[in-house]
Amino acid sequence: MDLQNQIIVAATRNEHKIREIDQITSQFGMKIISRDEAGIPPVEIVEDGTTFEENSYKKAYEIMKLCGQITIADDSGIEADCLGGAPGIYSARYAAMSDDLTEDQAPGEDSDDKDNNRKLIRLISPFPYEERTGRFVSVITMVFPDGSHITARGTVEGHILLEEHGSGGFGYDPLFVPEGYDKTFGELPAELKNQISHRANALKILRQKLEERLG
Ligand code: IMP
Repeated sequence: MDLQNQIIVAATRNEHKIREIDQITSQFGMKIISRDEAGIPPVEIVEDGTTFEENSYKKAYEIMKLCGQITIADDSGIEADCLGGAPGIYSARYAAMSDDLTEDQAPGEDSDDKDNNRKLIRLISPFPYEERTGRFVSVITMVFPDGSHITARGTVEGHILLEEHGSGGFGYDPLFVPEGYDKTFGELPAELKNQISHRANALKILRQKLEERLG
C-alpha cells in the first residue's frame, strides 16, 4: 500500500473534524472522503466505550464493515484537571449529563456546543486560573479491510477560560488557550491549530506507525 493518493473513509460525520483531518493528512498525500461520499447509509454508532480508544476503534470498525475500505475515526474531548478529567469521553454530550457524569438525560445525542461550554464554565468557575489546566485528547484509529488496525493518541496541554474568545474552530475551542500562546483556539488561525492540536499530534503518530507498518 502506498500512502500517496490513498483514499480513506472518515467514520465521523462532524464536518469540522473531517476538514481538520483532511487538512493534516493531505500533507501526507492521503485523500479523506466522507461517509456520505463513500455511499454509506446514515447509521448511528453508539459510543458506549469507557475510553477514547474503545470509542474510536468502534466507530472506525463499524464503518469499515459497511464500506470495505480503509477507514479512519477520531474520538476526542477535553479534560479539565480541576474536574478530575471531566468531561473527557462525554465532551460531546456534556450539557445533557448530570454534573457527576452518572446520568445521561439524552442518551446518544450530542449537545449544542454553546450549552456544553456554558456547563464547563459553570463547573470550573470556582477554580483560579492556575488550577484551570487541561488538555484536548484525540484518539485516531485506522482500520484496514482485513480487520487489523493502528491507533494513535495525541494531546495538547493548555488552560481553560471562563468566557469564550473567538469564533473560529468548533466545540470547546473558544475556551482553550494552548500552552505557549495567549489566545484561544477560537482566535488562533486554523493553520496554526492544525499544526499543534491534539488531532495534529495524533495524526503525526499515526503516520509514523503507518510508515513502520508499510516498511
Ligand atoms: P466525539 O465526536 O464523540 O469524538 O466528540 C468530541 C467532542 O469533543 C466534540 O463534540 C467537541 O465538543 C469536543 N472536541 C473534540 N475535539 C475538539 C477540538 O478540536 N476543538 C474543540 N472541541 C473539540
